[in-house]
Amino acid sequence: MGLLSIIKKVRDARPSPRRRARPFVRSFVDSPSELARARSQVKAKERELRVLMVGLDNAGKTTIVKRVNGESIDEISPTLGFNIKTMTYGDYSLNVWDVGGQKTLRAYWRNYYEATDGLIWVVDSADSRRMRDCAEALASVLEEEKLAGASVLVFANKRDIRGAMDVDAIADVLGLKRLVNRHWHIVGCSAVTGEGLLDGFDWLVNDCAERIYMLA
Ligand code: GDP
Repeated sequence: MGLLSIIKKVRDARPSPRRRARPFVRSFVDSPSELARARSQVKAKERELRVLMVGLDNAGKTTIVKRVNGESIDEISPTLGFNIKTMTYGDYSLNVWDVGGQKTLRAYWRNYYEATDGLIWVVDSADSRRMRDCAEALASVLEEEKLAGASVLVFANKRDIRGAMDVDAIADVLGLKRLVNRHWHIVGCSAVTGEGLLDGFDWLVNDCAERIYMLA
């Protein structure tokens, strides 16, 4: 058998795309519950957001996640590697990667940048001494190409501490007002009292959802 006729035989033996699609469609028609299940799986998947939470150590990342999840915040030890938390927020499921903030670990943050919908940058508003360091760390994260499309929420945390810097001054030091082509928002909050946390998550979820699902 010549080479050409072998190729023709193989091609003819392969189902055409139309023939291949038919059993798939029929199985849904035969089983409407299958169709409903598949639809709801797609919906559930669509309503999942991947959020990366970073910031300097001691900013309050772990406490924020615990507070929003309704867990006790009495005993919190520093994040050494990373915590993955799933939070339900309204209709959305947020997979939050709280990555440790120690300087030696910052190089590893980029391992988690892939497919990030939203970035939460947590700042200790009471730590004015490290605000410049914080600004530099944020600037280097925002340079990452993989995060170019991510919405950025800055939590100016620890508002309950007397003498905490005000939100506008923090936005200035972090250079947020100079950001272009970037959806960002800053919210003053306290992981201890809970103030501001829901406002922040509301903004992030809505901003990500608009970008991902409405414009898709
Ligand atoms: P992380 O390293 O960013 O995960 O920070 P943690 O969540 O471990 O918090 C570091 C310390 O700051 C802990 O002692 C927390 O109890 C405290 N902390 C976190 N958020 C707040 C806050 O909003 N107000 C106050 N007063 N303390 C906070």
